[in-house]
Amino acid sequence: MVNQKITNTKVTDHLQRPLRDLRISVTDKCNFRCRYCMPEEIFHKDFQFLPKEKLLSFEELERLTRIFVNMGVEKIRLTGGEPLLRKDVTVLIKKIRQIEGVKDIALTTNGSLLEKFALPLKKAGLDRVSVSLDSLDDERFSYMNGRGVRVSTVLKGIETAQKAGLGVKVNMVVQKGATDQDVLPMARYFKEAGITLRFIEFMDVGNANGWELKQVVPSREILEMIHQEMPLEPVEADYFGEVAKRYRYKGTKTEIGFISSVTQAFCSSCTRARLSAEGFIYMCLFATEGTDLRSRLRDGTNDAELAHYIQHLWSHREDRYSEERLSATEGLPRKKVEMSHIGG
Ligand code: SAM
Ligand code: SF4
Ligand code: SF4
Repeated sequence: MVNQKITNTKVTDHLQRPLRDLRISVTDKCNFRCRYCMPEEIFHKDFQFLPKEKLLSFEELERLTRIFVNMGVEKIRLTGGEPLLRKDVTVLIKKIRQIEGVKDIALTTNGSLLEKFALPLKKAGLDRVSVSLDSLDDERFSYMNGRGVRVSTVLKGIETAQKAGLGVKVNMVVQKGATDQDVLPMARYFKEAGITLRFIEFMDVGNANGWELKQVVPSREILEMIHQEMPLEPVEADYFGEVAKRYRYKGTKTEIGFISSVTQAFCSSCTRARLSAEGFIYMCLFATEGTDLRSRLRDGTNDAELAHYIQHLWSHREDRYSEERLSATEGLPRKKVEMSHIGG
């Protein structure tokens, strides 16, 4: 049944957006407690994470990935929680690498375990890592990650990933009063290192982080701040649905990017589906509910039926939360899935 031939079923949603990217959360656990994502008060030592039997197995993930690739998905991103905490994640990467039609495999990580994993990840077939780092200041960074992890640990991970031949980008969430003072030091450091740094506007994902609009630093302000010191020029988008607006430091090949979900919503070109570690599929980062694929994977539903079901879900997709929020100018009151559940 698993290998049953399924026909190519490319699909667009209600707003004519194709399905191109699949983000797979491989675990809901994390070794950090970032205040904007998994605050310790909620994700404390007694918090019940998913038991193993509820996680999709690598075989189930491979099977689903094949089905998604048949529908036009070309890019796979592994995320979490912290994806490097999932035991033998390299085995999953090897399996995904063998799927014909997968053009790009990326992984988002907090970088704390990257020094150890970079080479095995590359050998398994991973193309790229996005490393999250919000500050170069040890005191602030260890407070923010809630576990006292030092900046040098992440920087070593980044260096090892580069040496291993992985593509590396760094993502920084900018939050007013918390990390806005880190923007220029981060820009200077990664310009010098020749590594793309992307600034992410603090988002109202989930309901745990107490988001307020006044905590958002608009990308335009960051761009102007950097441009005054290190002149920038715009770079053309590479493909439909490219999320980051890109700029290059004049006279160099080094780029920076802005992911401005709050002030410059990009829903009209959003081609991403998100799979939680327990096998629920979400059509939007800000979705209230996902749809259970795990029980269908386990109840004898065949590949063609699963494909048909996913096609049905995507073709009815109307999500455009960030655009709606933009016109509401504040977070929209609704229950939302937590970021650590579907991985950003
Ligand atoms: N643990 C991995 C990491 O931190 O890279 C992967 C999962 S994490 C949920 C994915 C990304 O979401 C990280 O870059 C993190 O900084 C970002 N993120 C988490 N909460 C956010 C929020 N409220 N607004 C913007 N970005 C957020
Ligand atoms: Fe963990 Fe990533 Fe969330 Fe931080 S942002 S708590 S590293 S999942
Ligand atoms: Fe995509 Fe939803 Fe984000 Fe809009 S709000 S870009 S639809 S994930």
